Amino acid sequence: MFARMHAPAPLPVEPTRKVSIMAEEAAAQGPRPVVSYLKLPDGGDPYLEGQKCGGCGAIFLGERGTCSSCGASDRLEPTRLSNQGELYVYSIVHRSFPGIEVPYVSAIVDLDGGGTVKGNLIDVEPEPEKIRMGMPVEVVYKVAPRKDAEGNEYMTYYFKPRS
Ligand SMILES: [Zn+2]
Repeated sequence: MFARMHAPAPLPVEPTRKVSIMAEEAAAQGPRPVVSYLKLPDGGDPYLEGQKCGGCGAIFLGERGTCSSCGASDRLEPTRLSNQGELYVYSIVHRSFPGIEVPYVSAIVDLDGGGTVKGNLIDVEPEPEKIRMGMPVEVVYKVAPRKDAEGNEYMTYYFKPRS
């Protein structure tokens, strides 16, 4: 939306060429993480990063200065989270934004070793009898199906059942 406010006046010539140049630039940069706690190291595997409290060991997602578990401040250090965990809770979403395919499964997963993450559960039928609380899942990373208005690709993550 911000970008749209700054959209230039329509060009008299070659608008498609401009779009393709922007798409090339976006492709050269590679996909961007869809959230700040998804890390894409150069040449390494993507992972989720949490903040671990040096006082009590609690793990949180996202930036914060104070541990909401023990109240310690400035003791949070970045920590790489596990790609395995258990389904804590889910809901089957039947109505969403235009362009989003439904139904899909919105889930909250407790990762092994700490960290609670929200995301979509894939590779499972969106039927209550197919999904079980506590079922083992793993985090998988994929380029999001849609690009943004400037042609940028985004790396996102999903959960899928693990056997
Ligand atoms: Zn703490």
